Amino acid sequence: MNVLVINCGSSSLKFQLINSETEGVLAKGLCERIGIDGVLTYTPAGEEKEKSNLAMPTHTEAIQFVIDALTNEKTGVVKSLDEIGAVGHRVVHGGEAFTKSVVITEEVIKAIEDNNDLAPLHNPANIIGIRACETLMPKTPMVAVFDTAFHQTMPAKAYMYGLPYEYYEKYGVRRYGFHGTSHSFVSKRVAELVGKPVDQIKTIVCHLGNGASVSAVEYGKSVDTSMGLTPLEGLVMGTRSGDIDPAILEYIGRKEGLDLEGCISMLNKKSGVFGLSGNLSSDFRDLDDAAASGNDKAKTAVDVFCYRVAKYIGSYVAAMNGVDVIAFTAGIGENDAHVRKTVMGYLGYLGVNLDAVANDSHGEEVTISTPDSKVKVMVVPTNEELAICRDTVALIK
Ligand code: AMP
Repeated sequence: MNVLVINCGSSSLKFQLINSETEGVLAKGLCERIGIDGVLTYTPAGEEKEKSNLAMPTHTEAIQFVIDALTNEKTGVVKSLDEIGAVGHRVVHGGEAFTKSVVITEEVIKAIEDNNDLAPLHNPANIIGIRACETLMPKTPMVAVFDTAFHQTMPAKAYMYGLPYEYYEKYGVRRYGFHGTSHSFVSKRVAELVGKPVDQIKTIVCHLGNGASVSAVEYGKSVDTSMGLTPLEGLVMGTRSGDIDPAILEYIGRKEGLDLEGCISMLNKKSGVFGLSGNLSSDFRDLDDAAASGNDKAKTAVDVFCYRVAKYIGSYVAAMNGVDVIAFTAGIGENDAHVRKTVMGYLGYLGVNLDAVANDSHGEEVTISTPDSKVKVMVVPTNEELAICRDTVALIK
């Protein structure tokens, strides 16, 4: 069956059409500037990327253009809509309502809407994408796959904040965690690669991309993760601060004349390695190059990033009372040998030994610890779209 995987943002929409039998990508692309003007980028497998300016006042037009591109006589990859068996939607926040992926019904849409307050930028956009597909493909079954669901196995001691309990009861203020699809996919793949059942190993997954989080996966279940109520908590990221002393908000707010909204925007968009590097870049390729040519702020930014990852790994070894495998994934985790080496440099006490030759790899599955290393360290590329496709097929079969 062919599954259309959709990841909808407020003004953008990423898609992939995946054949679930071969797990090959038939075509992929992106609609941008929805509601402004509209640009479709479309890439059929093995072909050149095509970019077209198309008026997209709403997501419905955007999805119509995606369907047109997929079924187009010249560059299409299927003959008609009938060859798309299901749609899998990435949904950011499932709150406590969703512990796994679900077939989309009116009740499900309502429950996603109930979580809009928790993800005001993302959930409404996800629902718009779902509604648009419903309009254009009314007979095609749809599945929602939540970023938060995998972390719903966290125990209360990991998800509760040290805040008045009533805020949890009244407003759902607790830690939820994100990137769940990736943490789930990578931890399962690690188990396959080491040849052990997933419920017999303890894995720490470091999803290091522009957004970044670490998770502790004990016997197949997430028992802790570094993002919280929102994706702002935890690691220092591309432009997000990660953990800070919350009193900084009041202090900087007063000094800079920023209200709360302004402070949160600063923490989300102007901080992280971008802010630390003096606004040089949020991209590790730029930061590594600048650091290597003597830029001290860029070096500090990369050092702060790696140190925070290492501290989270240490705390998750404590949380699980041990670890068998540490896995690096996402843009930085899959490609940045310097970051991996620096993080592993803090883990000698665990008996971690780096295989420097293996670590010099990019974007492939590889073990980067030596055979005598007490903890195995691996690079495992993530594939959230494939995970969404698999969940979708499993639910509608
Ligand atoms: P993601 O959010 O997973 O797509 O990751 C994007 C980030 O990965 C970029 O902002 C870069 O910081 C990082 N990245 C991608 N390719 C490389 C590379 N070859 N070397 C170092 N960092 C990379």
